[in-house]
Amino acid sequence: MSAQIGVTGLAVMGANLARNLARNGYTVALHNRSIEKTDSLLEKHGADGEFIRTESLQELVDSLEKPRRVLIMVKAGKPVDSVIDQLTPLLEPGDIVIDGGNSHYEDTRRREAALSKQDLHFVGVGVSGGEEGALLGPSIMPGGSRESYDSLGPMLEKISAKYNGEPCCRWIGTDGAGHFVKMVHNGIEYADMQVIGEAFDLLRSGAGIEPAEQAKIFSDWNSGTLSSFLIEITAEVLGHTDERTGKPFVDVVVDAAGQKGTGRWTVVSALELGSPTSGIAESVFARALSSQKDQRVLAQDLLQGHEDTVELPDTFVEDVRLALYASKLVSYAQGIDMLTSAAKEYGWELKLDEIASLWRAGCIIRAELLDDIMKAYAVADERPANLLLAPAFTEAIAGAVPAWRRVVATAVQLGIPVPVFSASLAYYDGLRRTRLPAALTQGLRDLFGAHTYNRVDTEGTFHTLWGEDKSEIEAVDTH
Ligand code: NDP
Repeated sequence: MSAQIGVTGLAVMGANLARNLARNGYTVALHNRSIEKTDSLLEKHGADGEFIRTESLQELVDSLEKPRRVLIMVKAGKPVDSVIDQLTPLLEPGDIVIDGGNSHYEDTRRREAALSKQDLHFVGVGVSGGEEGALLGPSIMPGGSRESYDSLGPMLEKISAKYNGEPCCRWIGTDGAGHFVKMVHNGIEYADMQVIGEAFDLLRSGAGIEPAEQAKIFSDWNSGTLSSFLIEITAEVLGHTDERTGKPFVDVVVDAAGQKGTGRWTVVSALELGSPTSGIAESVFARALSSQKDQRVLAQDLLQGHEDTVELPDTFVEDVRLALYASKLVSYAQGIDMLTSAAKEYGWELKLDEIASLWRAGCIIRAELLDDIMKAYAVADERPANLLLAPAFTEAIAGAVPAWRRVVATAVQLGIPVPVFSASLAYYDGLRRTRLPAALTQGLRDLFGAHTYNRVDTEGTFHTLWGEDKSEIEAVDTH
C-alpha cells in the first residue's frame, strides 16, 4: 500500500491535518523528527483512517505514490528550510513539497524559486482555523504553481471547511500568494479583535456595563450584521466566571496581549507596499502597548487625564455597535487594498471574490459580512476600487457614520483609548476628503529637498526656486 500524501511534523496542526486527510479517505504517511509524536498519534487516533508509520524522511518518501505529495508542518522559520534541505535530495522531478505552516511569504517565494530549479513544485499553503479547524475543516489558501494545484487541490478542497457546501479552498496564485493572503487574514484578525476590545472597554469603562451583561449584548450583536465567529466567542469569554475567585474571567487575565508575529508582518508589508493599513497597524501597536506593562503602571500615577464628564446618549450601546461595524469594514477594506497592491507588485492575479469566499467558514475571521464582500467583487466590470466604494458598503457605512463620530468623540472625552475606531474613522474621512494637507507636505518637501510637485491646473513636474526669487521652473522628471 502506498500513501497519497505524507505529513512531516506532527504537533497539533500537523497531527490534526493528517487525521483530517485520513478521515476523508486518504492514506496518509506519518513522520515526525522524534518518533514519540508519530506513535502517540497512531495510538490515540489510528482508527481515524489509513496511516503508514515511518521513522525517517527516506521511509516517508518511499511510502508515497507518485508524483509524491509531502506536507511539511514543522515550526515556521529555519526548521522549514532544514526539512526542505533533507527532503529534496530524496524526491524526483514533479513531486510536490507543501508548507502548511505560517511561513513568511517572502520565504515561500525564495523556497519556490529554489525548488522550481530542481523541477519540484513548492506550494506554500495558508491554513486558518487553529487546531480545531485543522481537524474539522480549515480555510485553506494554497499558492504555488497552477499545475501543482491540479494534483493537490482536490485533496485540500475535500478536507477544507465548507460554506453552503462550497469548499473554503481555492488556488490563490503563484509562489507566495497563499501565504501572503493568510498573512493579511491574520492582520484583519488582529484588527477585528482590537475593535471588539475597544467596544468592550467603552461599554465597561464608559457605560459601566459588566462583562456578564455584555455577554448578552455581544450575543445579540451576533445575530445581526456583526454576526461572526469572533463576536460569538466574545460573548462566551465575557460570560465566563473564574472558578477560583468567582470574578468575571476577563478581570483575572493579565491585560498584556501576546503576538506570534503575523500581524507585525502584515504591517511591515503594508508599509513596503505603501498601502494605508492604519487600522491593522493600530491593532498591532495596541498589543505592543498592552505588553509594556511596566511603563503603563508608572504612567497611571504620573500622567494626568483631565477627562470630561460626559452624559452618554440613550443610544450609546447601539452607537458602539455601529462604530464597531464601521471600523471592522475599514479593516477589511484596508486588508483588501493590501491584496490589490500586492497583486500588482508580485504579478499575482488575486481573485478578491474567491478570497472572501474562502474566509466564510473554517477560519478565525469567518463572518456573515464576507458573503457580502464576495458579492461586491463578483462581477468583473463592477469591481470597486475600494471595498467602501461598493454600493452596498457605501450605504452601510454611511448609516453608521453619525454614531461612529459620537463614539470616537465620547471616547476622547472620557480618556478611553480607541486607536482602531479612531484610525479607521480618520481613514474614512481621509478617503472622502476633496483636498488633503498632502499639498502642504509636497510644498515643504520641495522647499527643503527640491523634491518637486505636480500642479492642479497643468501637466508636468515643477520646482520653486525657494532660495532665489521663488519663481517656478519645470523640473526634469527623474521617475
Ligand atoms: P509547532 O510550530 O509547535 O512546531 C512543532 C513541530 O515542529 C514538531 O513536530 C517538531 O518536531 C517540529 N520541528 C521543530 N523544529 C524542527 C526541525 N528543526 N526539524 C524537524 N522538525 C522540527 O507546531 P504547530 O502544530 O503548532 O504548528 C505548525 C505550523 O502551523 C507552524 O508554522 C504554525 O505557525 C502553523 N499554524 C499553527 C496554528 C496553531 O493554532 N497552532 C494555526 C495555524 C498555523 P519534534 O516533535 O521532533 O520537536
